[in-house]
Amino acid sequence: MAAPLKYGLLGWPVKHSVSPQMHGAGFRALGLDATYELVPIEPENFDLRIPQLVTEGFRGWNITIPHKGAMFAHLDQVDPVARQAESVNTVCNRDGRLHGYSTDGYGLERALSEAFGIDIAGGTFIFWGTGGATRATATHFVHHGAARLVLVNRTVEKAVTLAGALREFAPKCEVSTYAPTDGLLPDAVAEAPTIIQATSVGMDGETLAIPTGFLTPGRNVMDMIYRKTPLLQAAEAAGCRVADGRAMLLYQGVKSFEIWTDQAAPVEVMRQALEEALQPR
Ligand code: NAP
Repeated sequence: MAAPLKYGLLGWPVKHSVSPQMHGAGFRALGLDATYELVPIEPENFDLRIPQLVTEGFRGWNITIPHKGAMFAHLDQVDPVARQAESVNTVCNRDGRLHGYSTDGYGLERALSEAFGIDIAGGTFIFWGTGGATRATATHFVHHGAARLVLVNRTVEKAVTLAGALREFAPKCEVSTYAPTDGLLPDAVAEAPTIIQATSVGMDGETLAIPTGFLTPGRNVMDMIYRKTPLLQAAEAAGCRVADGRAMLLYQGVKSFEIWTDQAAPVEVMRQALEEALQPR
């Protein structure tokens, strides 16, 4: 009997991930004999471990903090958007050759479409926070025809650096940068219907990531964090349309699943497994 196809999540630490439940349910729904396991790898062992995974028969994997950058040195082929974003979260092992992709941008694209019915092409988006998640997703957005991005970050220099990279990659997209306290920011926000909260603020359940003055009625507010944060509660109370980060998590996984299996992912089965795994215990 053939051994099960092996997939996994590489990170350090990785014990809080719900990806095994989500992908496991997807494999079962399609009748695939496949496993998805957590693969904790200490940073100092990363370069040694990757060839071992290939030898052990892993057909693909996801990568999370802190390994998204270190993966590049091991790839035979890299998707151009992932290369530009300097971030690979999905690897597919095709006959021993490792192909790298970034699926977070697709995840955010589908999540915005599902929650608010909006498309990337021609759109204006505010990214509040310019860490790794924004770098990956904003690169996808400019690649897919976003007209304008407003980047806001506490450390404004990081927003400026990212804006430079995005302009070089997609000169037609207008990219502007602000510190949260910039006096010109309210005018820029007023012209953009959608805010994407992409800082880690709010995970503690207390802090508001974005001042309430920006939460005007009718605005779309998506928080990349997987649950209803104080920001989303305040935005909802102010009459905004709101969505948390679960659909983004789902669709980045859906894209990885489809890259590995070459089959349409059973989205609703994976969504239900993810929802169950995220229930507070
Ligand atoms: P990261 O690279 O560590 O970036 C963190 C960002 O948060 C930076 O912009 C940082 O600003 C900002 N920040 C941190 N503490 C802050 C504070 N006290 N006040 C203001 N800004 C603060 O993290 P990341 O990978 O981009 O992830 C960002 C968030 O997105 C996390 O909550 C993560 O869980 C979530 N995420 C969700 C998904 C999904 O599928 N839904 C996928 C990826 C990430 P500075 O530059 O000034 O430090």
